[in-house]
Amino acid sequence: MVRSSVSGVVAATTLWLLRVGAVSTEGDEAGLSDPVAECTPYGYGPVTAALPTFPAIWEPIQQIFQNDSVAFNKFVSINSSIPNIAPKGTLGVPDLTLLTTYSPSDTDCWWTFQQCVTPKLSGLKPDIADVPEPRTLGYGFDDGPNCSHNAFYDYLTQQNQKATMFFIGSNVMDWPLQAQRAVSDGHEICAHTWSHRYMTAFTNEQAFGELWYSMQAIKLVTGYTPTCWRPPLGDVDDRIRYIASQLGLDTILWKYNSNDWEVGQNGVTTDSVQQNYDNLIAAAKSGTFDSVGAIILTHELNNYTMQTAIDNYRALSEAFDYMVPIAVAQNRTEPYVETNFTMPSFASYIASRPPNSSAADQGSSSSSGSTGGQSSTPGNSGGVALGLTSTHAFSMALVLLSVALCL
Ligand SMILES: [Zn+2]
Repeated sequence: MVRSSVSGVVAATTLWLLRVGAVSTEGDEAGLSDPVAECTPYGYGPVTAALPTFPAIWEPIQQIFQNDSVAFNKFVSINSSIPNIAPKGTLGVPDLTLLTTYSPSDTDCWWTFQQCVTPKLSGLKPDIADVPEPRTLGYGFDDGPNCSHNAFYDYLTQQNQKATMFFIGSNVMDWPLQAQRAVSDGHEICAHTWSHRYMTAFTNEQAFGELWYSMQAIKLVTGYTPTCWRPPLGDVDDRIRYIASQLGLDTILWKYNSNDWEVGQNGVTTDSVQQNYDNLIAAAKSGTFDSVGAIILTHELNNYTMQTAIDNYRALSEAFDYMVPIAVAQNRTEPYVETNFTMPSFASYIASRPPNSSAADQGSSSSSGSTGGQSSTPGNSGGVALGLTSTHAFSMALVLLSVALCL
């Protein structure tokens, strides 16, 4: 028995070493089709070498990493001008009592309170919650990179469909080759913080660190520094907006929430998620977006959310004239700090995609396929419970329950 066990360990170790050697490049990882193989941990030299200079993966950031003079000096340069708004919680966990004591006038433009997207503080740009192009859907996915996203990304590639990927810094460090695939496939990457907590519940330094280190992780792995971010669960106020703006980040929210991340919690079912998709599709068909387009919140979180995106792709692409990354809808042709990566303008993007010309129409739909499936954010969730018909009170109740269950 002992000999057998030892042999088994040796065999497993050998397989692991082979696995490490087999996926040293983005192309290697993108070529895998077995979700288990996709999600087998691997070593990636640049990340391994940089780990000592980053905070602990998935841990909420308590302070700027020691001896990080670049981050520290940047923070010091903005700290005195950050709006004097108290954190709404501790270390990423919200203070629930604030729900009853917060000013009804919403002086902080706290999205979680009443979905405010127009800052009260002068000088801040409004959040991006819709897109200017009519009959257009800003198409994006939160919480990636998911380790087993190859089938989903393959599908998007088959449709010649680009999207905006809101990546969590800790996921980028865990799955760097998957993050690289997003760039290779032509998607846009925005930051989604380091540890995916409630941003208004951090101190100034902690919130700075959550943004800073997610940006550094994306830069380390992809070579590009994002200029946009989305607050986890939508939780942002003018203090956090200001910190983000000083880091060169535009704040992106959404107008329609699929609630796909929440299935199995708080009464959300696959049927209710499908109803959310159906409501958006019906609204598009009835002319709701004939003047201004929409942004949908969906997730690269697990097999279900990715498969549901695939299942609804044909209907969405038929309901909207165009589905585009958010940078494309905004005509931001240089989406990163670095200028050696460009995205097409809206006119250029749609030139190759006449209205309602999804590849689904070309007969390559693979909605019966599987996207594999591993949770992208262990012990955490994305999005906030604001469905098309949810009341504010109901939304807040779900948010708080989400906190209790997930954080
Ligand atoms: Zn999220």
